[in-house]
Amino acid sequence: MNYFDQKIQPVRDQRLTIIDSFCGGGCDLLDCARSGCALRQNRRFWQANACQMALTIMMASTVENAQIIMHGPIGCGQQMNGLVAQGNRGRVSRGLPMIAPRPWLSTNLKESDVIGGGEQKLREAIEFADREYRPEIIFVISTCAPNIIGDDVEEVVCRAQETTAATVVGLHCPGFKSRVVASAYDAFYHGLLRHLKFEPEPYKDFLPLDENNPEYERTMHRFQFEKRRTVNIFNATSIGAQDEQELTRLLEALGLKVRIFAEYSSLDKMRMISHAALNVSMCNVHDDYMLSFLKEKYGMPYVIAGMPLGVKATREWLLAIAKHFGLEEQANRLADAEEARVNEAIEPFLPKLRGKRVLLCGGIVRVGVEAVMLSELGMDVIGARLYHYDTGADPIIEDMADNLPDMQVAVSNQIFELVNQVNTYKPDLMVSHAGTHGWLARTGVPSVQLFNAMESRFAYNGLFTIISRMALALENPSYEKRLAAHTRLPYKESWYEKNPFSYLKS
Ligand code: SF4
Repeated sequence: MNYFDQKIQPVRDQRLTIIDSFCGGGCDLLDCARSGCALRQNRRFWQANACQMALTIMMASTVENAQIIMHGPIGCGQQMNGLVAQGNRGRVSRGLPMIAPRPWLSTNLKESDVIGGGEQKLREAIEFADREYRPEIIFVISTCAPNIIGDDVEEVVCRAQETTAATVVGLHCPGFKSRVVASAYDAFYHGLLRHLKFEPEPYKDFLPLDENNPEYERTMHRFQFEKRRTVNIFNATSIGAQDEQELTRLLEALGLKVRIFAEYSSLDKMRMISHAALNVSMCNVHDDYMLSFLKEKYGMPYVIAGMPLGVKATREWLLAIAKHFGLEEQANRLADAEEARVNEAIEPFLPKLRGKRVLLCGGIVRVGVEAVMLSELGMDVIGARLYHYDTGADPIIEDMADNLPDMQVAVSNQIFELVNQVNTYKPDLMVSHAGTHGWLARTGVPSVQLFNAMESRFAYNGLFTIISRMALALENPSYEKRLAAHTRLPYKESWYEKNPFSYLKS
């Protein structure tokens, strides 16, 4: 039995080498992972950590005509209230119509359910959702509590499927089981791959003609031709509509057809996933689980070639895709033309950035690629904070270690370490993950978002956006300066006198 046949997916900590507590150099990080010392990395103190379930419902809530049922205590679903607005922003930016808020449901597990089990409540909730709201998909989000008490959620989901019109998908998110929030991506895709079909259906997606029909040859030829030129791109919450449009623009310039999955997709669209020549990821952390499944089940090749950030990485990403279709020459010509254009566009901003000390913080792939990019543009990259390390990102870390051998690399998503690091090293600018900017502003250091789903970050348009944002942030840091002068962070002065990583332990 492989992972894909299991009722519940393994967490990242089980299927990959994971590090979430580390400080050293890029090479040290790789050595630590390969020598086995990764298992001993820890902290004596943790401030807080995110719940993987939160990220899974962020993805699930973007799927069209889906009803979400939170199976757990009512509090686990509190962030559902903000997701409708976020989803509608994403829909509008993709040219999709806004949707009216759909109530989210909860099985509202209480103490007595923790003793007696919550399966019956879940059965009733699925029946209610199907009857009242008539969704195409019902996502059952299994939170910590049912996983602790041993509810067989997947069994309830499979049984419920026999009597419901909607497709019922179990998303298993035992937040307590993983120290890596990125386990959320696997939870979402595991649910999809167990319960959805990724194959075109006759009469829905194509007309099945008899072989003797004079149209048979022409129709099949057209259908297969489309498949041979189609590329699936896999998105994620941090990848916005403008990024999708930029990558689509480039691949269409090579004569390819592009489809985007799985956020802002639908049951009908997802059926077409296997009708493509190649699956493409921008980040192994997001998609390696799903892409491995599609290769195993449908024999679909895939490309995971880093993130297209900056001219070098974008060319490599384009060439990796073009190679599959024998289009390397065209891709090189396209990259030459685009690079000439974007280099001219960013040139006026570069003198403001050169030599400035910058610290990066966020997901391993994005930070790793962007650190190299900013250093090649003349910035002094003093550190990279990775939210976690896993073996899938080794090529990125190797490249970062080669290009920036003396740069400090930390594996940390801890805010108390971040503000101490900023206070100690005093960078001119932070390029940081969403959720950190309020903290950073109070340190007095200007910051720009590492990603922004409402802006562009990928390829050539994305390069222009991030560079212009950075120049603007450096030019006018008055907001951060004033905020720092009139507010304080919740830490004692004595904390800033210590090494930011003094709570790390091996
Ligand atoms: S109880 Fe578990 S699933 Fe619910 S919010 Fe907390 S960590 Fe997340």
